[in-house]
Amino acid sequence: MSINVAGIYKTNPTREDWNIFRTEIKRHYRLQVPHEALPDQLRWPPGFAATGKERRATRWPSSTVASLKKSERDKNCITQSATGPLGQSRSKHVMEMTTSRRLLKSIEPHAGESIQSLAIRLAPLALVTPDQLLRFGLGHAAGLSSLPTDKSAIDFLAELGGFSLDDVRSRGVLTGTMGCVIYKREVPFDWVNLEVRRLAPGVLIDDGGIPFHRIAWQLNALDCDLDTGEALLERCPQCGELLRWRNIESVANCGNCCFDIRCAPVRYVPADRLSTARRMYSFLLRSGPPLPEPFDHLDDISVCHAMEWLAYFVSSVSFGKHLRASCQNAGIGLEELYSWPASFDRTVFELAGSHSVRFVGKRHCYASLVDSIERASGASLRDILMSRAVEFLRAPNLGALADQERRSRQQSRKKRTDDLFNED
Ligand SMILES: [Zn+2]
Repeated sequence: MSINVAGIYKTNPTREDWNIFRTEIKRHYRLQVPHEALPDQLRWPPGFAATGKERRATRWPSSTVASLKKSERDKNCITQSATGPLGQSRSKHVMEMTTSRRLLKSIEPHAGESIQSLAIRLAPLALVTPDQLLRFGLGHAAGLSSLPTDKSAIDFLAELGGFSLDDVRSRGVLTGTMGCVIYKREVPFDWVNLEVRRLAPGVLIDDGGIPFHRIAWQLNALDCDLDTGEALLERCPQCGELLRWRNIESVANCGNCCFDIRCAPVRYVPADRLSTARRMYSFLLRSGPPLPEPFDHLDDISVCHAMEWLAYFVSSVSFGKHLRASCQNAGIGLEELYSWPASFDRTVFELAGSHSVRFVGKRHCYASLVDSIERASGASLRDILMSRAVEFLRAPNLGALADQERRSRQQSRKKRTDDLFNED
């Protein structure tokens, strides 16, 4: 028979080992992991002289809490909360139980490591699976993918692992009023992907024995690892499934076919895309250069939309085709934003001076410019773009001219349709 002594199995335990083992068992009781779910090495061994109370506690943690509840009812001490695994308690007796939930052994969080990764690495030290840690230790049964959005589970994780609360909270992706809050910036919801676990195989190899997942890999606006420029994988190269957070015990494995992603070929993005991604990251951390006026006073979400829109607008003339206004192109848009208003003026100038204007007229050009501006998200952003266009073109009636053009286009379309019917 072997017992678990702070993560090491001992076959001939000393008296001291038994004491540590007993403490560890009690911690699991506090974690509320059912005794049946524990590995053999962490159950009371047959013949071990556990007190009756300890045995009952480890086997039936919830019933123990219930019995405590009954005995302390007069003092109204325990109220089992729906979210907290142990519930709130003001009783001195139960306080002793709840104050020290810290595991005997813990891990050191890496710089930039995600919440999910912390939970995955911590689980084996509590001798449970990541799912059990979430369910019984953190009171979060919805799975790893939504863990960064659960404030109370994040606090429980900090408590169990003995981590700094502020540090662990700063790794979360909480829901803001209009988007997600990551790195203390509020970005549109589609900028963050918590469902898919994007990975850089080469970086995971360099991590050594226990690889970890990075917070930055969750941002759709960044398409590579920021240190190495390695492209991020979204799908398992063996089975083709999206890499998700279900059924995994290590961040480096596919949850569907268990393929080790570290065996996948390593690809790098071109140098200009890496520097674009790094500039975007500095913007998010507020360590980059300040944004030009009037964007420096705009809220985060509108600035993000401005990046998406500028990437679309600037590419619409010079490339001859439109880049989609999406977070994937936001990095390009950020570069254009830093050179505002020159980047915008240049594009408007090209649009107004392009050959087609001579044939189709000024009004047509204005109408397509206003059409583009109306594709921008957010009224405050559209106002900024419109007033800049009016100022640059010295056309105070830009909106009215564009409206006229659109009306005449509608009329001519209607006329063409009518003519077609009349011919019949
Ligand atoms: Zn797979």
